[in-house]
Amino acid sequence: MTGFDTLAIHAGQDPDPRTGAVAIPIYQTSTYKQDGVGGLRSGYEYSRSANPTRAALEEAMAALEVGARGRAFASGLAAEDAYFRTACRPGDHVLLPGDAYGGTFRLVARVLANWGVEYTSVPLDDLDAVRSAVRPNTKVVWCETPTNPLLGIADIAGLADIAHGAGAHLVVDNTFASPYLQQPIALGADVVVHSTTKYLGGHSDVVGGALVAADAELGEQLAFHQNAMGAVAGPFDAWLVLRGIKTLGVRMDRHCANAERIAEFLVGHPAVDRVLYPGLPSHPGHDLAARQMRGFGGMVSFTLRGGEETALKVCGLVSVFTLGESLGGVESLIEHPGRMTHSSVAGSPLEVPNDLVRLSVGIENVEDLIDDLTSALA
Ligand code: PLP
Repeated sequence: MTGFDTLAIHAGQDPDPRTGAVAIPIYQTSTYKQDGVGGLRSGYEYSRSANPTRAALEEAMAALEVGARGRAFASGLAAEDAYFRTACRPGDHVLLPGDAYGGTFRLVARVLANWGVEYTSVPLDDLDAVRSAVRPNTKVVWCETPTNPLLGIADIAGLADIAHGAGAHLVVDNTFASPYLQQPIALGADVVVHSTTKYLGGHSDVVGGALVAADAELGEQLAFHQNAMGAVAGPFDAWLVLRGIKTLGVRMDRHCANAERIAEFLVGHPAVDRVLYPGLPSHPGHDLAARQMRGFGGMVSFTLRGGEETALKVCGLVSVFTLGESLGGVESLIEHPGRMTHSSVAGSPLEVPNDLVRLSVGIENVEDLIDDLTSALA
């Protein structure tokens, strides 16, 4: 069993041994009967420590990201926090992408910094800049590729070399690509993080997160912190993500095809200034993305010649696209990062352009999406 779609349907998801149920049951239980004190019947004792539905998701995640251990959390940020508390101590230094997801930046700059963690933001598409930003106390190089919301592309293998040369981890937030399009551990990353809220869940009906460690020992340390800190995925949420994962490949193919068509449409539109999509040959990261990704993803950002006012207007004029935060669901979403998802980085070096609009292109008929944008941009 090696094909991605086969693993997505079967890894960690053998039929239930008791009933033969093909779908993993939702083990909605907090505790488990013990056969005498300390005698565990099933290997499970308490659902914060482990739960069979969550364990199935964790095994599936490890298989899809070609890692040793997967861990599932209550949100992407809970997963990130558990990783940082595992890998960093006060006085350690973290390198963040120049346009990191705003919530990651806020976690590091406003929570971990209070705990004594230092950080520097650096453009990850410039490996020399990354090399010079590394310090003796650097423990983590944090990478997003493609980045949110500017769709920058970073060289995962190149960053892994720099991180490992400095004795640091390379962590890749693979939320935008999903493991179907990109497998960072195969390119040298030590840890992959996901907001499973996005493409893995895929239906905008669950908030969740995951970590996958390349190495079993680090996986054990993450498991310790997951249990000690407690922000685990509940059984129903784990089940929803598992169900989403089964169709990840077919959904991603359609997300990519629709996004490519929309990016081409926007490039030719007179109201649009710049289109940011790694699938466009004009994108500075296009060749690198073509090498390290199977497809270019479903996210498209663009700026408008009319500036912020026009960007806000367009967000309000669509009808098939829904104005909303988040991404990666079957339905198309539109948002204004400066005022919505990335308002937490306003005034910081990570501030995003105010004429930027971000699309999470769904899997509807692309003609309907293009008609919707045509009338909103008119
Ligand atoms: N990483 C990226 C790239 C994201 O876009 C998000 C959320 O938007 C997160 C992490 C955080 O995930 P969550 O919202 O599930 O906590």
